Amino acid sequence: MKSSKLCYAYAAHGPKSNLRPFRFRRRAVGPNDVLIEILYCGICHSDIHTARNEWQNTAYPVVPGHEIVGRVRETGARVMRFRPGQIVGVGCFVDSCRKCDHCRAGLEQYCDAGVSWTYNGTLQDRKTGTFGGYSDHIVVDQNYVLRISHKSNLAAVAPLLCAGITTYGPLRHYGVKRADKVAVAGLGGLGHMGVKIAASLGAEVTVISTSAEKERDARRMGAKKFLLSSRPENFGKFENYFHFILDTVSAPHDLDRLLGLLRRDGTLCVVGAPGVPQKIDQFNLIMKRRKFGGSLIGGIRETQEMLDYTARRGIVSDIELIPIQKVNEAYARTVRGDVKYRFVIDLQSLGPAKA
Ligand code: NAP
Ligand code: ZN
Ligand code: ZN
Repeated sequence: MKSSKLCYAYAAHGPKSNLRPFRFRRRAVGPNDVLIEILYCGICHSDIHTARNEWQNTAYPVVPGHEIVGRVRETGARVMRFRPGQIVGVGCFVDSCRKCDHCRAGLEQYCDAGVSWTYNGTLQDRKTGTFGGYSDHIVVDQNYVLRISHKSNLAAVAPLLCAGITTYGPLRHYGVKRADKVAVAGLGGLGHMGVKIAASLGAEVTVISTSAEKERDARRMGAKKFLLSSRPENFGKFENYFHFILDTVSAPHDLDRLLGLLRRDGTLCVVGAPGVPQKIDQFNLIMKRRKFGGSLIGGIRETQEMLDYTARRGIVSDIELIPIQKVNEAYARTVRGDVKYRFVIDLQSLGPAKA
């Protein structure tokens, strides 16, 4: 067994404290492990919810980051799927029980025993804490590492590992197809990937947004229509219109207004997770036999499928690349909705001299 390495990172130490430099040791590279030098890591709103304990489950210190793109540096003796130098990705989880029905079905994210989240979780021993991608390297079992075949713009590939799969998963699961009328609520990190992917499937996409100034970007990404949600009167003309609505909004908002936009048998699928329970009026479901569902990221197989699909189609995220020293500013701007459309950290900015 090779020895463990010191890892340079940024961590939050409490719900109100800024992220700051932090050092810890990653595990030694085991026979099935891949050691990845992290090149880029996206900033997901879930990182912010977690750093600020908005889901009341944060164990500090927490090193967020689950949109990881990096280069393989070392491989364990039994690793056949990866070799040093290869570009790879790591998403929201790094292990699971591998035995339950969900794991066997390739839907590890729903593992009965509980997945090992990439950060703020534990390995399957339920003891060893996990630390995420705001760091210079990570050690991950080969079965939970993704191949990346995008040839350029790797920084813009990083957000696919969460925002990409979280939107691709439900769009595919609910069978969105050519000419379907699809709405994406919230044009943030998830939302803008949802627009690009839904448009690539041939759907007629409408963006439902609180931000009038995002309309031009929405259309550039493939949306045909734009509903400015801060004006209630705008909802009228879209009543009973959509086959499918993907709700990516990160804050509490009116779900009944969205349900009213669905046609008979249409589906509202929430992926946004404000962390505050919200009510709905059951009549909004009953009267048009509408469906209300949710979806959690995606399994390893499906995430690989999404990465291959987006590589073939040339789909990546619209990003603002930042050095890690700007992470706290990026958090504040994300919460204000002031990001076009995903911050990605360049991990070259982190190192012994700079941490
Ligand atoms: P984000 O980049 O901050 O985007 C969220 C968007 O929601 C904003 O850009 C804004 O869009 C809209 N919004 C924000 N506050 C709003 C409000 N008060 N009312 C209405 N709209 C509002 O966040 P993200 O990274 O895309 O994540 C979105 C949510 O999904 C978060 O809660 C995150 O934790 C969750 N998430 C879930 C999964 C899953 O597996 N289900 C995976 C990843 C993330 P407009 O300016 O267009 O209105
Ligand atoms: Zn995420
Ligand atoms: Zn399982």
